[in-house]
Amino acid sequence: MRLNQLGLKELVTMIKSGDVSPHDVASDLFSAVDEIEPRIRAYLEFYAEDMLAETRRMSESGSFKTARFAGVPIAVKDNIVTRGKRSTCGSRMLAAYVSPYDATVIERLRSEGAVVAGKTNLDEFGMGSSTENSAFGPTRNPWNLDHVPGGSSGGSAAAVAAGIAVAALGSDTGGSIRQPASFCGVVGVKPTYGRVSRYGLVAFASSFDQIGPITKNVADAAFLMSAMCGKDRRDATTVDLDVPDFEASLDKGCDGLRVGIPWDLVESGLDHSIDVNFTSIVERLERAGITVIDVALPASREAVVCYYTLANAEASSNLARYDGVRYGHRAGGCDDIATLYTRSRDEGFGEEVKRRILLGTYVLSAGYYDAYYLQAQKVRSLVIDDFKKVFEKCDVLALPTTPTPAFRFGEKSGDPLAMYLSDVFTIPANLAGLPALSLPCGVSDEGLPLGLQLVGKAFDEATMLRCGAGLERMID
Ligand code: GLN
Repeated sequence: MRLNQLGLKELVTMIKSGDVSPHDVASDLFSAVDEIEPRIRAYLEFYAEDMLAETRRMSESGSFKTARFAGVPIAVKDNIVTRGKRSTCGSRMLAAYVSPYDATVIERLRSEGAVVAGKTNLDEFGMGSSTENSAFGPTRNPWNLDHVPGGSSGGSAAAVAAGIAVAALGSDTGGSIRQPASFCGVVGVKPTYGRVSRYGLVAFASSFDQIGPITKNVADAAFLMSAMCGKDRRDATTVDLDVPDFEASLDKGCDGLRVGIPWDLVESGLDHSIDVNFTSIVERLERAGITVIDVALPASREAVVCYYTLANAEASSNLARYDGVRYGHRAGGCDDIATLYTRSRDEGFGEEVKRRILLGTYVLSAGYYDAYYLQAQKVRSLVIDDFKKVFEKCDVLALPTTPTPAFRFGEKSGDPLAMYLSDVFTIPANLAGLPALSLPCGVSDEGLPLGLQLVGKAFDEATMLRCGAGLERMID
């Protein structure tokens, strides 16, 4: 078996027991990328030379022996900055941007012996659900090259699924870790808002954005999470809470947990295979003696509308910084500042980003603010209240990650609304800031992977992850 098919923990164990060196792992990954990447196009940049040099150095010095990640390479979504390397966010606007610093998560992973393998493709600035909105071309779904890998972390999910990344980092604003994880048959975790530092994550919608792992199994996600989480003085929204050893309780599985099913949300619009698959999982949970409770999240029916109002408002403000003056694309030959701003933004941003800036500016404008932005904030409060009530009765919620399996290229790209609706099940957790994960739970009639989503209580990733590990064993 090739090393690239193994998970992160397995590789670390093999390296530490002396079976293979970090350099062997990196070389094997490099050959897999050479062979597979041209069909998938998951990476925007792959740092073969740096990665091989770094792992050779670690292999020779033996420094990997005491490091948590033992020199294993990890792929990084290209909206998370890495020192001395380009971070494009999948946008022409930042095509030439080289970051002078590492994001906090990168700093933390590196300090524990992880090596950055390369930067993965995404929908421009994280805006999309298919990776079709990247200025550098789409990524393909390794299960079927005619289908999208999901988005916006499509490059990271496809790379892990195709065995050209051991594990990856993604970011999740409205579902961008969980939806592509589900489309590509891998595990994706969005931590509680405030759990992981956003310092060095290029802002899309700051009250939603979180960085999280995309991995081959739940244990690998827990392994990465324990190193990524925690207070960072450079991100004031991070919370100063102890970070548990997320791996410690994985063995307990779903024992003694009460699992809530928000049937009111799940009932309508489901693809047939997902409907059948989800119902059978709920039945298996009941047969396994796990307490399954019917719960309701009525306000979450408005979640998509609420999210696209608030996220676009925040995006319009966050993206105002790209004016062609300090950094980012600058249009040539402009005689005055207004022309410079307009032309730089017109040339630098893609269609979807422009649509979001227009909508976001509109909902924040005088006269419409109360009707749209403020109203959406109120809906967000209702969504949060629903979750609070529900979590008095259960420990974790289960629902499908997406209403359909991976769709075909072009199927939704001409219809923004249809694209937005692919986030119906992932968005509620972002509105409420709650942790959520997606794990593979079967395949559709067409042979495409399906994802099961778990949502946990705020800062209780540990319970969510152990339930995920239990379900992973049960579903096999
Ligand atoms: N698909 C959603 C959007 O386009 C979510 C994106 C994300 O989580 N970054 O906004």
